[in-house]
Amino acid sequence: MSVLIYLDQADGQIKKSGLEAASYGAKVAEQLGTTAVGLVLGTISAEAIKAAGKYGINKVLQVTDASLDAFDAQVYTTVIAEVATQQNANVIIFSHNANGKAVAPRLSVRLKAGLVAGAVALPDTSNGFIVKKSVFSGKAFANVAVNTAVKIVSLNPNAYGLKASGSGDVAVENISVTVPAAKVKVTGKSTAAPGEVPLSEASLVVSGGRGLKGPENWGIVTDLAHALGAATACSRPVADAHWRPHNEHVGQTGGAISPNLYIAIGISGAIQHLAGVNRSKYIVVINKDPEAPFFKAADYGIVGDAFEIVPKITEAVKKL
Ligand code: FAD
Repeated sequence: MSVLIYLDQADGQIKKSGLEAASYGAKVAEQLGTTAVGLVLGTISAEAIKAAGKYGINKVLQVTDASLDAFDAQVYTTVIAEVATQQNANVIIFSHNANGKAVAPRLSVRLKAGLVAGAVALPDTSNGFIVKKSVFSGKAFANVAVNTAVKIVSLNPNAYGLKASGSGDVAVENISVTVPAAKVKVTGKSTAAPGEVPLSEASLVVSGGRGLKGPENWGIVTDLAHALGAATACSRPVADAHWRPHNEHVGQTGGAISPNLYIAIGISGAIQHLAGVNRSKYIVVINKDPEAPFFKAADYGIVGDAFEIVPKITEAVKKL
């Protein structure tokens, strides 16, 4: 018996969401009185693995096959299924990020394992295995009981946080697994520019909508984001009009994010936009229309002209 935690990596570094999964999986293993085993796929440095060791996992398994450097959901599913079977894993943890969303459901079918996608809290193991998850685009919670022998949980980014509890001196074991040939070919990769925070990993997000009038005005959004160390996002019409790239579009048809703080500037708060952001811990809305629907979902609201208010906030943040 063990808890297997998939440590999602990008460019040889374990992602923050992967380290959160490590923190969470280590606690689940403690609850179940079993071992927390991390799994990394592809080329990754010993230092990066050591970073994962700080979050309470007991050992890390590594499959170093270079063909795993490019993420492929089908290949990853096959490899993780084989490792899980080899390790007799009874709980498998993923981050509910893009890669976790692609692999966890496939693995669930492959292993006939119940899946809780988008967990927001530790399981209740006092009487079975019951996991709280958010449903209806973050409008409600459900407590899901998993009765299968193998259980899979994908954890919402920023829901559990990073809980350091180890020295980092974690044992690393190279294991050999049959890696199938990829059916897709990766021809390019787009990543955040150096110094920019990737949106899916960000705990602070500054987002702009059509209220900003045009791409030439985006400086007030990016200045505030840089001052805070935040990622930038936007509403769909903004991406559709090519004011901002489509990977920044959040909502029902864009990315779903769950940062600790979401600052919405000049965004009306349509239900389709809220579907992607209402799992944020705190929402701050800046809008000149006091009747804008977003205020109903906001923790803090500022009624006024974004072009006057946002630079003042940026200056205040810079002084902190
Ligand atoms: P608007 O609705 O035009 O709002 C602009 C806001 O800016 C207004 O509230 C205005 O008061 C405010 N404003 C104007 N000037 C200022 C100023 N100077 N200072 C401060 N505030 C100002 N939308 C998404 O975002 N994501 C999605 O994934 C998405 N998916 C969709 C899927 C479907 C099937 C459909 C039908 C729609 C979808 N939409 C989505 C579109 C959505 O319905 C809204 O049209 C969109 O979110 C509105 O974008 P917005 O708030 O930027 O623009």
